[in-house]
Amino acid sequence: MSLKIFIDGKFVDKEDAKVSVFDHGVLYGDGVFEGIRSYNRHVFKLDEHIDRLYESAEAIRLNIPVSKKEFISDILETLKLNDLDDAYIRAVVTRGVGDLGLDPRKCAKPTIFIIADKIALYPEELYEDGLPIIISKTRRNHPTTLDPRIKSLNYLNNILAKIDAIDAGVVEALMLTLEGYVVECTGDNIFIIKDGKMYTPPSDIGALEGVTRNVIIELARERNIETDLKVMMSKELFEADECFLTGTAAEIIPVVKIDDKVIGTGKPGKITQEIRKDFKKLTETGGTKY
Ligand code: PMP
Repeated sequence: MSLKIFIDGKFVDKEDAKVSVFDHGVLYGDGVFEGIRSYNRHVFKLDEHIDRLYESAEAIRLNIPVSKKEFISDILETLKLNDLDDAYIRAVVTRGVGDLGLDPRKCAKPTIFIIADKIALYPEELYEDGLPIIISKTRRNHPTTLDPRIKSLNYLNNILAKIDAIDAGVVEALMLTLEGYVVECTGDNIFIIKDGKMYTPPSDIGALEGVTRNVIIELARERNIETDLKVMMSKELFEADECFLTGTAAEIIPVVKIDDKVIGTGKPGKITQEIRKDFKKLTETGGTKY
């Protein structure tokens, strides 16, 4: 059976799921999205993702023409229809079809689509051995240009950094702010552990406020591990005991090397592994059922 895609209120086969070349999502990356995951027929942190989607839309003055409740029900329907137990869900709202100019007012109606597909996972050995990453030469967008807290369709900044990673033969790249502070990776947030305390950059310097990031801060609190939102230079990462990345797709993935600097023992750290276990348990027990 062909995958069924939700597009503008209807379900169509994957082959027929198309948007116009005049859609400003295509022409300008003018739109917002979410990447969401389901585990064993439960959508993980669905409300949090929907809230962020609507916040991103509001930040670009895009009025999503359906309620959050309706959006949630369309996502659950997409999952049910495709009979997916474990899925990666992509919810997208574009500015809609307009003319060749930038003016968003020319776009009468936002385009909404929802894709639910099988999840493509990183190979297990990357979780067991940990990732080497590099520091990208591409700096993260400054919050006064295009705020990285907005999950917009305009991902070229991240893609350029991803190309730096590919060129270096690794799968992820760390991005710095214009001032040279550690901020986030191309599709993940970053954490370090130093002397039993956890640190991650504050999102207002230019990082997405990751849903997984917030879950990790909560899980750490339950383990009495304090988290400090800290503005850090890369040197602090090199001197960390442990380092890991978080994201919906990657979950929690240990980092063992940054450029040519080995982090901690060069193996995934103990606290990282414990938090990974807590996270796994949480994904197995919670979420919105479908
Ligand atoms: N930063 C960026 C740039 C991202 O695209 C993502 C999502 N893939 C994240 C961080 C992690 O966010 P979340 O935990 O909400 O998936």
